[in-house]
Amino acid sequence: MRKIKKRKLIDYNAPNASTGIINGRSSNILNWDDTRYPWTYPMYKTMLSNFWIPGEINMSNDLKQWPMLSEYEQEAFQKIIGLLAFLDSIQTDYSGKIADYLTDSSLSALMQVLAFQEVIHNQSYSYVLSTLVDQKEQENIFEYWKHDEVLRERNQFIIDGYQTFIENPSVDTFLRSIVYDVVLEGLFFYAGFAFFYNLARNHKMVSTSTMINYINRDEQIHVTLFTRIFKETLEEETDLDKKTYREFVTEVFTLAADLEIKWARHLIGDKFQGIPILDLENYIRYIANKRCRQFGAAKSYPYVTENPLKWIRAYQEVEEGKSDFFEQKSRQYTKVSETNGFNDL
Ligand code: ZN
Ligand code: ZN
Repeated sequence: MRKIKKRKLIDYNAPNASTGIINGRSSNILNWDDTRYPWTYPMYKTMLSNFWIPGEINMSNDLKQWPMLSEYEQEAFQKIIGLLAFLDSIQTDYSGKIADYLTDSSLSALMQVLAFQEVIHNQSYSYVLSTLVDQKEQENIFEYWKHDEVLRERNQFIIDGYQTFIENPSVDTFLRSIVYDVVLEGLFFYAGFAFFYNLARNHKMVSTSTMINYINRDEQIHVTLFTRIFKETLEEETDLDKKTYREFVTEVFTLAADLEIKWARHLIGDKFQGIPILDLENYIRYIANKRCRQFGAAKSYPYVTENPLKWIRAYQEVEEGKSDFFEQKSRQYTKVSETNGFNDL
């Protein structure tokens, strides 16, 4: 199995623009005007322009509405926040670990920004919960991932994918772990996102949903970053069998969508108006297909060709952070498009 080497802290004899994503040569100096991949600097600027912090979002309306939510709504709300907190926590750590193997200073820099954003996502969950529930309940919600069997199975799927790379880093496990990464960032959040968007379109908990939307937007860029690293690596490492890895993508997303559907049935089922479970299931399959396409792989579910939850369409079009939806707060970072907002959903 081909080895993957960690990036050197400094290399006097190597160029600033690296010679490859992995196992390349790089002085490790970061000059945004002299990078190997022309897309890294625009992506960095987009990530900066999307910058947000939880404290900018006023939670007072959500606080007033919280006691009026149904018991099911409160329960799903808390469980999803607990789940997201788990995913973002391990994501911060994984992105730091994979960054060590990127021999391109602009890509390792993007990975640091990504990790910082995951920390902000985690802060937002604490921020929301500390507003709505007491300390004890908040602590319970952060423990939830340990005790729910369906959730554990689903999380273990990611942990195994990451752990294989961490324990035995190679070109092969590097590429495969990226597929699990995109499952985490690009699929396993999505049943939860749908729940929050459904609340928001019913004018409930709009501030929390605003944060969820910002997280969603960040995650879409993260997916773009990881799928590009995957595709560029396959191009650069010419002895790799591209077909094997593309088939692996389709396979993993089939399993992952099944796990996400199991979780959606468990959590959401037919308890909520506006997100019929069969539509939500096909929505998850639709997103899995979309991720496969981003990897350049065949779809996991070729028979699902349309998004059955069309009202979420707007969120899916937040590709690379081009738009912004709620504007609950005055933001100077990103311009708002005229064509978004709940009125248009
Ligand atoms: Zn995140
Ligand atoms: Zn992310």
